[in-house]
Amino acid sequence: MTDLSKYTKELSKFISSSENTLIISHINPDGDAIGAQLALYHYLKSRGKNVSMMSPNNIQEFLKWMDGADLINVFIRDRKKCIKLIDKADLIIMLDFNHPDRLGEAENLVTVSHAKKVVIDHHLDPGNFTDLIISDPSKCSTSELLHELISEINGVQFISRPYAEALYVGIVTDTGNFEYGSYSSNTFRIVADLLDSGIEKERILNLVYNNFSSDRIRLQGYALNKRMVVLPEYKSAYIFLTKNDLKEYNHVKGDTEGFVNLPLSIKGIYFSTMFIEKDGFVKLSFRSKGKFPTHEFASQYFSGGGHLNASGGEYYDTLDNTINYFLKVLKENIWRFEDKM
Ligand code: 5GP
Ligand code: MN
Repeated sequence: MTDLSKYTKELSKFISSSENTLIISHINPDGDAIGAQLALYHYLKSRGKNVSMMSPNNIQEFLKWMDGADLINVFIRDRKKCIKLIDKADLIIMLDFNHPDRLGEAENLVTVSHAKKVVIDHHLDPGNFTDLIISDPSKCSTSELLHELISEINGVQFISRPYAEALYVGIVTDTGNFEYGSYSSNTFRIVADLLDSGIEKERILNLVYNNFSSDRIRLQGYALNKRMVVLPEYKSAYIFLTKNDLKEYNHVKGDTEGFVNLPLSIKGIYFSTMFIEKDGFVKLSFRSKGKFPTHEFASQYFSGGGHLNASGGEYYDTLDNTINYFLKVLKENIWRFEDKM
């Protein structure tokens, strides 16, 4: 997508005529989802709009310091208020996801709402469930795309302190601090402008990356030492964590973020999977380097999706059965993908 003006005209019209805008991030919101959500919030507030925010479930600890994060209403924690917000909204802007099942338990309420609905996102294969879809998988993050849209709507680049911090968190987390993902020279131009605006890069990095509990670091050591299985013959590795493992290390939301990337630094490993045991199901994360299409694997076998190199899904069975099923489909499919590695 190159010509943004085609989309910004309609988006701008929706925003101008909205009395109550609701911004929604996806279930298990990551730094990009919350970053983009807060950036859009701060921009719309600066225009005097009436804006609220909602997330389907809880926000991870390492994002709670962000300006405005305490204003995000969590659907599963405060249903009554969130239902009211959905009811009242005449414009719903959804960020960093492109399928309604990423709304979690709010899915039905949002999809039947009469509000104008907009998706702004950078994942592959967007679903058709809104009035306007602004999707660009070539962007490193929804935050980057959002900033371009806002700059276009605003006439000049919009930057305020909380906006710049939120955007920076979105870009940094979705690229693993500029390690992976589809960042471009354009990303760095935006980052340069954010730095010029005076954000404290070191402070933000410390809040996002160097703010873990000792239990979290020990859990990472345990996961790599005791729970990682390397399958060189399949150029793959996986990590699994049981509910008990998480309990033993006093797990809090977000603690396992990033673990799935670690096996990819092993020579000859191109595909990494993490299994996290939940109540009645298993949450899976997939990462690859090169051309292994994790989003196809996730959507075909694990009711999920995402990007080429980073996806997720879930499987409603025990951890053991999920791993066995995974090994079966991996073995059946790995050769099909091998020429792409
Ligand atoms: P993570 O592994 O960090 O949870 O997610 C990696 C990527 O996959 C993110 O872009 C996220 O949006 C996507 N993703 C994670 N879980 C799911 C899922 O259950 N369904 C879909 N469609 N995408 C997912
Ligand atoms: Mn994203």
